[in-house]
Amino acid sequence: MNKSNSLNVFLVLLFLCGFRFSYAETQGISISQSSFIQSSFQYIKDDSGTFSIKDVRSLADNSWLEEATGSANFGMTTDPYWLRFKLNNISNKNLNLVAALDYSQLDDVVFYEFLGDVKLREFATGDTKPFYPRDVDHPIMSFHVSLEAKQAKTIYIRVQTDGSMILPLRILHENMFFVEASKEQKLHFFYFGCLTVIILINLAVFLTLREKLYLYYAVAISGYLLFFTSISGYSFQHLYPQHPALHGRALLVSMPILALFSVLFCREFLQTKQHSLKLDMALRAMLYFEIFNFFSALFFSYNTAIMISAISALFFFSLLLIAGPISWAAGLRAGIFFTIAWTPLTIGVLATTGRSLGFFPENFITQYAMQIGSGLEAFILTLALADRLYHEREDKIEAQADSLRKEIAHHEAQNKLAEAMAHDPITHLPNRNRFEWMVNQKIKQDPNGLYFVGVVRITRLDEINRTLGLTRSERLLIYIAKKMTDLATTQSGVHKVIDQTGKKECVYQISGDSFGILITPNTLTDNFKSLEHSLMKLCEPAVLDNLAIDLHPLFGASVYPKHGNNAAILIRNAHVGMKNTPHAVQKLGFYSQKYDIYSESRLTLMSDLREALLHNQTELFYQPKLSLITGEIVGLEALIRWNHPERGWIFPNDFIPLAEETGVITLLTRWAFEQGIKDLAALLNDYPKLGVSINISARDLAFGDLNNLIETTLKQYHIDTTFLTVELTETAVMEDPNSGLLILKSLSDIGLKISIDDFGSGYSSLSYLKKLPASEIKLDRSLLIDICTSKSSKVIVETAINMAHGLGYKLVAEGIEDKESALLLKEMGCDMLQGYWLCHPLPLDELKVWLRSYKNIF
Ligand code: C2E
Ligand code: MG
Ligand code: MG
Repeated sequence: MNKSNSLNVFLVLLFLCGFRFSYAETQGISISQSSFIQSSFQYIKDDSGTFSIKDVRSLADNSWLEEATGSANFGMTTDPYWLRFKLNNISNKNLNLVAALDYSQLDDVVFYEFLGDVKLREFATGDTKPFYPRDVDHPIMSFHVSLEAKQAKTIYIRVQTDGSMILPLRILHENMFFVEASKEQKLHFFYFGCLTVIILINLAVFLTLREKLYLYYAVAISGYLLFFTSISGYSFQHLYPQHPALHGRALLVSMPILALFSVLFCREFLQTKQHSLKLDMALRAMLYFEIFNFFSALFFSYNTAIMISAISALFFFSLLLIAGPISWAAGLRAGIFFTIAWTPLTIGVLATTGRSLGFFPENFITQYAMQIGSGLEAFILTLALADRLYHEREDKIEAQADSLRKEIAHHEAQNKLAEAMAHDPITHLPNRNRFEWMVNQKIKQDPNGLYFVGVVRITRLDEINRTLGLTRSERLLIYIAKKMTDLATTQSGVHKVIDQTGKKECVYQISGDSFGILITPNTLTDNFKSLEHSLMKLCEPAVLDNLAIDLHPLFGASVYPKHGNNAAILIRNAHVGMKNTPHAVQKLGFYSQKYDIYSESRLTLMSDLREALLHNQTELFYQPKLSLITGEIVGLEALIRWNHPERGWIFPNDFIPLAEETGVITLLTRWAFEQGIKDLAALLNDYPKLGVSINISARDLAFGDLNNLIETTLKQYHIDTTFLTVELTETAVMEDPNSGLLILKSLSDIGLKISIDDFGSGYSSLSYLKKLPASEIKLDRSLLIDICTSKSSKVIVETAINMAHGLGYKLVAEGIEDKESALLLKEMGCDMLQGYWLCHPLPLDELKVWLRSYKNIF
């Protein structure tokens, strides 16, 4: 197998260099003791390849050509070359010399030593043979020559090699040779060391980061290392001296390896796929070519493989030379590094080429230009990788910081959303969801506890909205929320919770106009007094922009476990309880099923009542009214009775409030008047002085047709309006004092008597009562129940009688159950009485019987 200098082959191809020949006379090399020896030689080319040393020696002197510089490059030739030079020791001392062809890749080299015509020694070497034996232990082809004082010897060298015939002859004193060889070896090993360190660093980075970029780079630099250790012959000398074939292939394989992985690295490093598709395509083509080159290095003949390598090198260098600037122009930072890194290598290649071609002088720089260039390239690219690593890390940290920022923002947004979902947007009070959650939580913690769910509704908010506009009413709401929170905070019984943000919650906004609190009654220290005080405070007008605004709040409450076992039901029932408060009275209305018009059974009850009224299935019972002055029966109070087909007797208190809420009351009142007047007509025949009282409700006051109805019905039976009394409870009158007054007036105007029922159960003022067109006041049973036993009750009743009389009203005592009370009332000057003592309410027929049998009681 032949070998040649592959590097020079491609350099030759690159620069299409020619050969340099020079002709000279045969001259010997004069050698003294001084260290420097200017070498020169004569040579002939053996075109036939058949010359022996004898043939060569017999050639005429003029057939030899002169190479005065001592170094020649004959290009690619497989023809043997013969070199000849004479060594003259002009000194008086023995000299030991080394004649060396300073190129490790020569295939077959044979040295001949002649003293005159006597052949002293012959030594064959070359890198197609095992490394040892060598005449001098060094990778370059060297021959040891000793000269005695004034002695001259002629040396012949036959060289035959594949590829480039590069013959740099150097003749050195033996000691100088070794000094220089060791210097050179140190430099080489320093260079190899550097490459090895770079390889190891990049392998380590690759193993840590698992980024193939670093692996490509490590393998590419390994390719360089293999190339330079092979071309310098050190790997042959030190690693596999017995395997010249391996030595040849190692050099061949090193080139595709370094090129292949340099290209892979380049693509990855410059991210050509993203930044320059054309460049990427060229690099990909290069990759396929290098794979082919790799296999050709393994299996093709040396010369073919070297040709392919040379072509590859031409493209490889050109492509990578432009890759950096292209990426740089595309704005890639890596492009700058790559351009800078590739430049010294290009300079190195050019310098080596220039030296080989004789354009540049032979000196340290030109001699080691390739090594320096590739070393710098490796170094700069290592810096570039470090820079990339640094930036990537920075980017990663920035990305992490960014994602952290995003996460915080996300978290904040979530918190805001959660806050928005759990709070009222105007008052920022926790909302109904939060209230339900809190109440349920409390129940869960202590299911055996007792809790009140209290609700407040600002009933005038709608009206306030319309009057003041939304902005001001929002301010009002905020004011109310604050006031409520301030009041609730001081209440011992109001349950307080600390939310996630550390804020104290005690008042919750359940809807636009209602608020809720949870009360744990066992922690109330003053038996609801402070709570009632707070409610009163809430009823005070709110002052906004110098306006005192009446809020008309209503308060409702429900009790756990009696009124419900979860927050939703308790809140609902507290709202129902609110309906149970007499209007304009600042009291807590507790839930009662009786008033729960919304319960299903109650809803069906109302439709049943409507049916009963329409089909005359209800009845009027009559309770007589006794005059305490004359002892006669002066009137009858009509009281509705309903015998429900399934539920049996249902008393007015169980359906009247519901009828009022659902509006069925208008139907009921209409029926009561029609039936009452009809019964009255029947009674008047026998008892011409008897009047009848019919109860009406507050809702009837809004029913404008009432007058008409009464008048037409009375007319129908030819009864005078004075026989009819309309009873309206005190609280019903107070519900809407102004319009109540007007309607009562219109009723009185047509001649009806007006009676104020249940007087004393509400809070009406006498000054207001004074304005009413009433003729009669009925004292509520609750005031009369203990008049015989309680002095204060007696005083109250006495005062009430006197005041009523003072205002011109007749007084009726209700619910009198015993004779004692009756007599006392008579004594006190009360005008009339009703009660079980006298008679229970009776159906018309029974009443007629009772009336017939009645004898003046006094
Ligand atoms: P009210 O108008 O104050 O009627 C008097 C109530 O006291 C009646 O109850 C009567 O039965 C009851 N009562 C009479 N004497 C005594 C007594 O000595 N002791 C006791 N404990 N109670 C006595 P009732 O009939 O159950 O009616 C209750 C309320 O329902 C009435 O109170 C009235 O406000 C209303 N009501 C009854 N019928 C009608 C009606 O036809 N229309 C309207 N709008 N309301 C009615
Ligand atoms: Mg009544
Ligand atoms: Mg009454």
